[in-house]
Amino acid sequence: MITAAVLHGMSEDLQVHDDIEQAPPGPGEVKVKVVASGVCHSDLSVQNGTIPLPTPIVLGHEGAGIVEETGEGVSSLAPGDHVVLSFVPACGSCFYCARDQGFLCEKSAMAAGGGLLDGTTRLTHGGQGLGQMAMCGTFGNYAIVPEISAVKIDDDVDLRYAALIGCGVLTGVGAALNTASIRPGDSVAVVGCGGVGLNVIQGAKIAGAEKIIAIDMFESKLKMAEQFGATDLVKADEGDPVGTVMTLTGGRGADVAFEVIGLGPTIEQTINMTRNGGEAILVGVPRMDVMLNLNAAFTFLYLAKTVKGCWYGSANVRTDVPKLIGLYKEGKLKLEELVSREIGVDGVNEAFTAMQAGEVARSLITHQH
Ligand SMILES: [Zn+2]
Ligand SMILES: [Zn+2]
Repeated sequence: MITAAVLHGMSEDLQVHDDIEQAPPGPGEVKVKVVASGVCHSDLSVQNGTIPLPTPIVLGHEGAGIVEETGEGVSSLAPGDHVVLSFVPACGSCFYCARDQGFLCEKSAMAAGGGLLDGTTRLTHGGQGLGQMAMCGTFGNYAIVPEISAVKIDDDVDLRYAALIGCGVLTGVGAALNTASIRPGDSVAVVGCGGVGLNVIQGAKIAGAEKIIAIDMFESKLKMAEQFGATDLVKADEGDPVGTVMTLTGGRGADVAFEVIGLGPTIEQTINMTRNGGEAILVGVPRMDVMLNLNAAFTFLYLAKTVKGCWYGSANVRTDVPKLIGLYKEGKLKLEELVSREIGVDGVNEAFTAMQAGEVARSLITHQH
């Protein structure tokens, strides 16, 4: 029996059950004792329907733990291995993986149905099958995941903080280091300073950006943005953020601007605060019906702006996870500082409420076993 927080229906509170049955890992799968899981905005997005997934489902997609058991044919992992879970499996051999775009791995398609690679799930509760978000389901204290969704890391890294790499850190730092082409000395603007936005900021700093303009509605998030390397703080609801960024960048706009919210108006603002010839990187998760209103001539042609979508930090997890762990060990990447509260799995609904109120960077669930 395992314990997990389950979403039973859209817009409902999660329910924690301690009597969920878990089948053994199938071929190519591993059973992971989940040590910790971040509570990410995308979990909330499943609950409120922005990301539609079938229910009932165990949420959580940002976790780390220890391999406890391996299924038939598993060769890259063994019991005792410490792993970070990737919410996009990376098979290493499909069209996209072969082109260094593991974040688009063709094997990830099945995740939309809530099952594992073969479309089925290993969890049942009261005779009913339970899905796993992104083939992870890290709001459970054990998870059976595809071997290709687990990335081995060194044993000497605290798994509580390693968990954060799985989504927020890879996405945000990856946006700055992989998706964007930030040059040393560049000016960067970041619209939205939640868990992912803070990581865009620290990624921009690592990339050598000189001016990092943080834009958010919440004073508390701007304070954190400063700790992560922002040099200029802009309260989004005081004046016009586009005009303010122009003023701060000699009237030209930012060399690279990131949108980390996922709303139509803020995406348009982000593109408008990007300088001519610069890059706008779209990281936030919009609702499925969001459309943009852009002037084709004066965005793309005459002003020569590049607008790039950023899915999962354009990451190749097997190289990027070890790279980020290395940066953490060198003291260049902040992980502990991302955690604003540590909770048990029963505190997950409260963590959702706090996230909606803009209070926290990350709530971190530490599981009992
Ligand atoms: Zn996430
Ligand atoms: Zn692949």
